[in-house]
Amino acid sequence: MSRTIEIPERSGTAFRLRKGEMLTVIDPRGEQVADLLAFNAGDVGEVISSGRTLDYAGRIYLTTGDKLYSNRSTVMLEIVEDTVGRHDFLLTPCSYDTFHHFYPRLEPHRGCFGNLAEALAPYGVIPDQIPIAFNCFMNVPVDGETGRLKVLPPISKAGDHISFRAAIDLIIGLTACSAPDSNGGSFKPIHYRIDSGK
Ligand SMILES: [Zn+2]
Repeated sequence: MSRTIEIPERSGTAFRLRKGEMLTVIDPRGEQVADLLAFNAGDVGEVISSGRTLDYAGRIYLTTGDKLYSNRSTVMLEIVEDTVGRHDFLLTPCSYDTFHHFYPRLEPHRGCFGNLAEALAPYGVIPDQIPIAFNCFMNVPVDGETGRLKVLPPISKAGDHISFRAAIDLIIGLTACSAPDSNGGSFKPIHYRIDSGK
């Protein structure tokens, strides 16, 4: 059995995920978002792409059976289990700048963007390479007529999870999100686990 690793509140990490391995992202307390990025371990110029993925899926809400594609149309991850069914793949990681924009009265935080940039730097990823993340558990309903977005608290409950299988060797970036509105107003840890998938 693999062990469960905790990402403390408002922080992030990066690690290798080999082809065939399964990554499970767990919301241990409920209503907590985790931003997920994936890079080709052999060439970090190849990166997860919201645009490609949503184009191929023909939908904006992804769940079990959906594949996450790279900017070069390679399948990077497949969602193999999902107890929530509501995640976001439209919005960029929260950042110092988005804190200024949305929370001008709060102390700014470097957010998921800063946490991902630091965690991914040892793998040769520079901040300008950080794209839209697959935001596990983030609840962003869209008005079908106007296209207007809302950021609501996640519908995830304690212990809910989403599992991905790696289709190629990857570098993964993963956070416990730092933005108040995305997380129901409080900051919680995220747990993850890697299984051999065999
Ligand atoms: Zn965030």
